[in-house]
Amino acid sequence: MMTGEPVNILGMSREELRSFAAELGERPYRGDQVYQWLYARGATGFDVMTDCGRAFRETLHARARIAGVAQVKNQLSPADGTTKFLFALSDGLQIESVLIPPSSAFEGDDPGDEEPRSSRERLTLCVSTQVGCPLDCAFCATGTMGYLRNLTPGEIIDQVLTVRRLTGRTITNVVFMGMGEPMLNYDAVIRAGMLMTDGAGIAARRITVSTAGWADGIRRMADERTRMKLAVSLHSAVPATRDALMPVTRRFPLDALRAALQYYYARTKVRVTYEYIFFDGINDTPLEVRRLIAFARAIPCKLNVIPYHEIGFAGPEGIGASLRPSPRMHEIVEELRRANLTVIVRSSAGEDIAAACGQLAVQGLRRSRSGRSTRGVPDAEHGPRSIVTQHRHDRRP
Ligand code: SF4
Repeated sequence: MMTGEPVNILGMSREELRSFAAELGERPYRGDQVYQWLYARGATGFDVMTDCGRAFRETLHARARIAGVAQVKNQLSPADGTTKFLFALSDGLQIESVLIPPSSAFEGDDPGDEEPRSSRERLTLCVSTQVGCPLDCAFCATGTMGYLRNLTPGEIIDQVLTVRRLTGRTITNVVFMGMGEPMLNYDAVIRAGMLMTDGAGIAARRITVSTAGWADGIRRMADERTRMKLAVSLHSAVPATRDALMPVTRRFPLDALRAALQYYYARTKVRVTYEYIFFDGINDTPLEVRRLIAFARAIPCKLNVIPYHEIGFAGPEGIGASLRPSPRMHEIVEELRRANLTVIVRSSAGEDIAAACGQLAVQGLRRSRSGRSTRGVPDAEHGPRSIVTQHRHDRRP
């Protein structure tokens, strides 16, 4: 029998819960029952686990706990129904999730979708994977802050479970596009994705991992055949421009990214989504468009063009302070379509609430920092990171 502090069981796999039940002196199937209660039914305590038997419930009270995220506030967009959730973690740090309404163009008609669903059926949650991010993209509000830590698998999936419980609605799609770079918390992201599919009933093909271009993670996803979809924030196919917008390019140059994507497609036969924001005078020139078309032709793909949410509230520096939406966006979209690319123009879901909510998280995180600088591209998977907040509600697959 184990002794000591109660164990947080949120984030445990089915097998781990079976082992845990056995360690508590129960038959392993009790672990299956707890697994169902946690992920399929979203239990937040043990009293509701009535089929587990009173004695086992009392043991769970003494030996286990269920600790994930706690709602701080939520903010509904009157304009389009997008809802931002601000969650507190057990150490007081805060993260955001965004519930994107069925009417949003985020999940609008997509001629390339493998399994079209009516917009009324879809409800997508954008979840965070880190408290912060090292990658410091110029257009990202959260990139203006410092990295604090990775989320645990339990903290990741609990964003889904908690929003489902708070809203009483079925979440059909999940995108790993909130705060953080998912590939830098790869194991936890894949574990959370597995719990979403096997435990919470969300099909793997409706879960998307969105990366800034961490090529090693793309190759790993290809090798492990996770069945989750892949999106890449591209934003330029010209090395110098992408380097200026996304410092991750120094770690994984465009050639390395293209090679990883070709490898991914060769292994999975699943097309990739590129996310793209056009910035005035930066990546909306004829040269940029020609390079984008050439890059996009490397593998089957679709392109999500996303209007820019300005991040002035976060006090960006350098190129980030000068970014403005391109007035040529729709003209370029037509040019890309004439080049036979599949292009989806996303609406600015939640634009009216993005700044205020991001600002809260940015201010909260800045207060919690001790003055150390954690920005910059990491040298290793767990190197220094920088924090992200407004983030990728602007970068949807
Ligand atoms: S959270 Fe995403 S967009 Fe923001 S800095 Fe990190 S990788 Fe870039």
